[in-house]
Amino acid sequence: MKEALNILMTASECVPFAKTGGLGDVVGTLPRFLKKAGHNVIVITPLYSFINREEHNLKVTFDKISVRMEYEEIVFSLHESTMRGDVPVYFIDYEPFFNRSNIYHDDNFVDYQDNPKRFSFLSKAALEVCKLLNFPPDIAHGHDWHTAILPAYLKRLYSHDSFFTNTASVLTIHNIAYQGRYDKYYHYYAGLNDEDFTPDKFECFNAVNFLKGGIYFADAVNTVSKGYASEIKTPSGGHGLDQSIKSKGDNFLGILNGADYGEWDPAKDKLIPSNYNSTNLNGKDLCKKVLQKEFRLLENNKIPVIGIISRMVEQKGFYLLPGCIDQIMESLDVQFAVLGSGDKYLEVFFSDLEKRFPGKVGTYIGYNNHLAHLIESGSDLFLMPSLYEPCGLNQIYSLKYGTLPIVRATGGLKDTVENYDPDTGQGTGFVFWEPSCNSIYNTIKWAVETFYNRKQHFHDLRKRAMLKNFSWEKSVAEYIKLYKKAMEDKA
Ligand code: ADP
Repeated sequence: MKEALNILMTASECVPFAKTGGLGDVVGTLPRFLKKAGHNVIVITPLYSFINREEHNLKVTFDKISVRMEYEEIVFSLHESTMRGDVPVYFIDYEPFFNRSNIYHDDNFVDYQDNPKRFSFLSKAALEVCKLLNFPPDIAHGHDWHTAILPAYLKRLYSHDSFFTNTASVLTIHNIAYQGRYDKYYHYYAGLNDEDFTPDKFECFNAVNFLKGGIYFADAVNTVSKGYASEIKTPSGGHGLDQSIKSKGDNFLGILNGADYGEWDPAKDKLIPSNYNSTNLNGKDLCKKVLQKEFRLLENNKIPVIGIISRMVEQKGFYLLPGCIDQIMESLDVQFAVLGSGDKYLEVFFSDLEKRFPGKVGTYIGYNNHLAHLIESGSDLFLMPSLYEPCGLNQIYSLKYGTLPIVRATGGLKDTVENYDPDTGQGTGFVFWEPSCNSIYNTIKWAVETFYNRKQHFHDLRKRAMLKNFSWEKSVAEYIKLYKKAMEDKA
């Protein structure tokens, strides 16, 4: 088998160009580590209008490329940049689909109606671009429902195209709850036919389900932690796709996301007020001071700050906080620094909290990478009460920043955070199981009491957390193994 693989990666998000969550982080990092391991990788993603063409030095590669979707001919142009000067990134420039202010939804969080058209076009365009670039992929790697159709395209529309004879497909599921279920019109728009509109493939209650079809057609499928890989094989965790996942047998596995320590390491982070490391934590005090000021909190180093950075959606579990926040604020001397956006009622809840508890809660509604780094560095604790969490990156970043995670034991959170044992002092964070107000309250109380009353344990937990290593090197080796298995099984 070839040593250096040609890998096409295509996705709706890619850091540093476009991101709403972990998907963008992974697509912006994994290719660089694959390249480091000796492989040839290209990334193909949309040219959203908010991507700054000058800042990223975009240049036009091809003009007027034509792709046929079932009911229309689409003519687009291709632009090129690199990911941190390293991996080539190609941008599909088609204004009617991608000249939007957000990736998936309008400013009121209403999904764009034509999402299935936008992303099936992206997937087909990616294959056409490979041909134009004369880049025959050994692996075509899609991510989430948006580019899950890629494997089906290879096995159907391009099955007789000799350019793709040796191309195996891999699909990564970053969150199985988002499946891309739409009117069956979009199945046909994408160019698929009746043969594939069956319950084992793309059909789901007379609608098309892009993720389901992708799972069926991909030569190998993975998700982003081992814990989540087990959970989505169960009816409650699989959101209706547990049987599809199980049918993949050993062509389905969990590979933990790595952290990009080039961006997320307090020893080198350029976005934080002062650098620090596990042997000298002095800089963390200054980060906390700046955080308290920036979030309008009482500036007092002795009070623990709990950080929150999140999409504000049901999955993340914050809907449990209204049921215990009064008890927390009345009985514990603690502060919260909150950053996020999403469901209106949660945005309103956190904004009101700052008004109700001035100096104790600071809330910033929106997306802000700079503030995310400040919260990671300046907080003492970090709260993630997720109902489910495929991998979760913020708890991994938190460990590195000595900001002890308080997490629910689910998916990647369970795989990465070790519960504090008050008898031995071992652990790297605070873990609870039951998704209830009581459990959140008790666990926050436990963490805060450890901060105040078991200072040596808190200090040791912090040091141990900072020495944990979730770098990409290990995960990349697992991806390469998965790629090779996909190629063997296809052959
Ligand atoms: P998910 O992909 O479900 O949103 P992850 O924990 O895998 O959750 O990844 C979230 C990523 O998005 C992290 O890098 C986190 O720092 C970032 N993030 C989430 N919300 C915000 C925000 N409001 N501002 C800045 N960064 C954010």
